[in-house]
Amino acid sequence: MYKAILWDIDGTLLDFSKTLNAALKECFRICGLGECSDSMVRRYSVINGGYWERLERGDITKPELFVRRFEDFFGEYGIEYDTAEFDRLYKLELGNHVFFNDNSYELVKSLRGRVKQYAVSNTPAAELSAKLKKSGLDCLLDGIFISENLGADKPSSAFFDRVFAQIPESREEVIIVGDSLTSDIRGANNAEIACCWYYDPAGRQAPADLRIDYTISDLNEITSII
Ligand SMILES: [Mg+2]
Repeated sequence: MYKAILWDIDGTLLDFSKTLNAALKECFRICGLGECSDSMVRRYSVINGGYWERLERGDITKPELFVRRFEDFFGEYGIEYDTAEFDRLYKLELGNHVFFNDNSYELVKSLRGRVKQYAVSNTPAAELSAKLKKSGLDCLLDGIFISENLGADKPSSAFFDRVFAQIPESREEVIIVGDSLTSDIRGANNAEIACCWYYDPAGRQAPADLRIDYTISDLNEITSII
């Protein structure tokens, strides 16, 4: 039915919350900031997620996001540290910790030859490249499309226009699979392509104005959709 899957990476093929946890704790250790507790990690995740949603809505820029998330976080806990330097270290560490969702490496490997598989991601290019290499996914994917390199972010139509300019498949032949309503599913709506929401059953409700063609809570369910 579909000739290609556009995979989101963070939060979809890879478990971003585990990566974030490991990277943040490692940065606290490197910078000598004491212990970063699990509740601090949860608080940072909320702040960070809020900034990414504001970016997707076009309310802030990426350079603002990178620094302001740590200004807010450090401010709440009374931590004094150079936020730009911390962000630089943090991005390096994010690329060093890889965790798969639902055994996704084996899934992507098993789908090779059946469908084309491309990565579509808003993650910073250096961080994403490091994670894809460390995970081995870079050798399994047929193409990697990163917003930083394309000059447009999901969910903009421009992002998808630039992807379709570089792949042989047409819009009717692809499906995007992602965890984000604001970037992946909104992007699919904007670009008029099929979408599959990888959702947390205990998590968010989808807004009524979004078209969601499929929902899965385990990535392996995609095999019966394509
Ligand atoms: Mg994601």
